[in-house]
Amino acid sequence: LFQKFTDGLKKTRANLTEKIDSLFKKDRSSNFHQELETILLTSDMGPKVVSSLITDLKEWEKSPGTDQFPDARSFMIDRIEKLFPDTTPIWENPERSSPLVILVVGVNGAGKTTTVAKLAALFKSEGKSVILGAGDTFRAAAIKQLELWGEKLSIPVVHQKEGADPASVAFDTVKAAISRKIDVAIIDTAGRLQTKNNLMSELSKIHRLVIREVGNNPIETLIVLDATIGQNAVSQVKHFGESVPLTGMILSKMDGTSKGGIAVGLAKEFSLPVRFIGVGEQSSDLLPFDPSLFARSILQ
Ligand code: GDP
Repeated sequence: LFQKFTDGLKKTRANLTEKIDSLFKKDRSSNFHQELETILLTSDMGPKVVSSLITDLKEWEKSPGTDQFPDARSFMIDRIEKLFPDTTPIWENPERSSPLVILVVGVNGAGKTTTVAKLAALFKSEGKSVILGAGDTFRAAAIKQLELWGEKLSIPVVHQKEGADPASVAFDTVKAAISRKIDVAIIDTAGRLQTKNNLMSELSKIHRLVIREVGNNPIETLIVLDATIGQNAVSQVKHFGESVPLTGMILSKMDGTSKGGIAVGLAKEFSLPVRFIGVGEQSSDLLPFDPSLFARSILQ
């Protein structure tokens, strides 16, 4: 798995580790901390997180006698790992009710539909039955795309015509999962930004209906964010979080960016766990997020 993380995060890793390697090789100059700060900032962790990491590092260096870390780098890795909230996903809760419902939200182009397919493939590979809901009824192409994934993965897809009420598609999907005793229902949603208010009330309606249908049991609401947009993802989490209670994030396209540090910034800013990272276009290119593997992959 570590290998998969280092491969998937190749660009972020190349950006950070090489520069950090050469910084650590040099004699410690008076600008050591400043240079380290600049390097970390290029990965888009965000100024707040980076400055608190540097402050912690300076503190630690003042009292190195009490540490268990061999060097500054392992101290940083440990700190970054701990910035991610430690919350268990609903699917790991043995007492959760069935079906597990996952609502997937995010702006168009973020990688939502592909991520829905990747999640389906992942649960299926664990022996679970899965059903998909084509809730982006605004775009005929999105419905078609999900149907194609369904065919490819041999997973049923609940869909209606373009322009149908997305809440009705979500409702049908959950109902079908319950009546057919399917383990996991994953619902795609629309992400058009030009009519933001409508979209937000639409999402909150879907969320309400789904929750009611599963007897007020918790569901996972995951936001898919294109990691290549770096810090711009912050406002997306804010907006979507105002209409639906997000339970976690999925960062797609991690393979295509040197700004993978955004995972750290977002997790810290919103106290939201990163559940998965997308590292390619295939259905198997989804990695369950592991803070320790992530921190080591980008810094070690
Ligand atoms: P949606 O509009 O949010 O549903 O986005 P799509 O699922 O259609 O994805 C948009 C584009 O991003 C497609 O070309 C996907 O193949 C691509 N994509 C999605 N996830 C990843 C990823 O993790 N890595 C890479 N390299 N491409 C991705």
